[in-house]
Amino acid sequence: MEQRIAEERIRRLFELAERRFPENTELSNRYIELARKIGMSQNVPLPSELRRRMCSSCNSYLKPGKNCKVRIDSKKQEVNYICANCGEVNRYGY
Ligand SMILES: [Zn+2]
Repeated sequence: MEQRIAEERIRRLFELAERRFPENTELSNRYIELARKIGMSQNVPLPSELRRRMCSSCNSYLKPGKNCKVRIDSKKQEVNYICANCGEVNRYGY
């Protein structure tokens, strides 16, 4: 698979996850897992804006206000996404 195509697939899977999330969280988590697998097998890093929408520990699709809390640590210049599923704190600099 070409890398460009792999990235397109990954983006499409994240879109599907977003669309399905309200009705079927399980399914959207599976889309994320699949997207991650494609990325790994094709050696395509997940685009950073997509990486923020998932939990790095349990692969859940994260939706702020639904299944994750967002905290801003202005001292460290970090945004923390706290996964409600496994409690992982996903940290991103800004
Ligand atoms: Zn998690």
